[in-house]
Amino acid sequence: MPVVEVNKLSKSYGDLRAVAEISFNVEEGEIFGMLGPNGAGKSTTVEIMEGVRQADSGLVRVAGLDPQKDRNSLRQIIGIQLQSSSLFPKLNVDEHLKAYGSFYTHTRKLDDVVDLVGLTERRRGRAGELSGGQQQRLAIALALINDPQIVFLDEPTTGLDPQARRRLWEIITELRNGGTTVILTTHYMEEAEALCDRLIVMDHGSIIESGTPSSLINKHFSESAIGFSLKDGALIDADAIQSSQYVTEIRNVGSTIEVFAANVPGAISDVLGLAGGGKETIEDIHVRKASLEDVFLKLTGRTIRD
Ligand code: ADP
Repeated sequence: MPVVEVNKLSKSYGDLRAVAEISFNVEEGEIFGMLGPNGAGKSTTVEIMEGVRQADSGLVRVAGLDPQKDRNSLRQIIGIQLQSSSLFPKLNVDEHLKAYGSFYTHTRKLDDVVDLVGLTERRRGRAGELSGGQQQRLAIALALINDPQIVFLDEPTTGLDPQARRRLWEIITELRNGGTTVILTTHYMEEAEALCDRLIVMDHGSIIESGTPSSLINKHFSESAIGFSLKDGALIDADAIQSSQYVTEIRNVGSTIEVFAANVPGAISDVLGLAGGGKETIEDIHVRKASLEDVFLKLTGRTIRD
């Protein structure tokens, strides 16, 4: 049984079609990712599911409820992550949780919520004195105070350092393992790849791909990426590399050149041959599997930050 059903959902702002007849389901107990560049229509879709925004047409059911008609009942069973900028700097962690808990008929035990987000030691800490990662975790704790069936997390790790980000990934995984359905929008492909059970990729208001991260990677890439950089002042003929029978694509990523190929030894041999044996020209040669970021770039023609 899907816990969220979206069927032919559309929404325009004036002449702008922000969401164009999209359909998808979210299954109970999964981490469902919504990816797409800025302006793709993710927030509009999420806000309609949350009952914050009204659809123009289409059917949306969240835990069997109509987000417009059953807004009050829906609010009791979903969790919406606030931006950490909407915390009250002078209130401490416990005070925040008690204040937000008072909006709900059913709440989770405070001890459990602070434990889940790893803030037990900081319960008396004022929001304004918490680190960025701790503030984000408090924002997530507030979304969990009503013990929701479904939690909406909007870019939960934006601006966090890698360690704080990984800490949040653990929390999100723990939530899912406890049976909560998580709907996550993110800009970070690595995050989507690590966390999401299934995802949709949106662009210009439409869904352009959907599936598990590994199914999307396998569908779009049988190739691996061979990366290398050029020694100072060295040049390499990109057209000649592209013309190798093994090379499907060549790409510049910062100071690294990436060559996509299914036959890795064949492509490396061609690249080294073109680089005059390689020693004078090439350094740091390495091979990696294709990632969700590669899929995104292939599908949308741009990186997610563009
Ligand atoms: P995303 O979350 O993927 O960045 P949004 O749903 O925020 O996408 O936006 C989709 C499109 O709708 C964008 O072109 C955006 O500028 C436009 N848009 C979003 N909200 C409004 C609004 N309240 N009024 C007018 N246009 C809007």
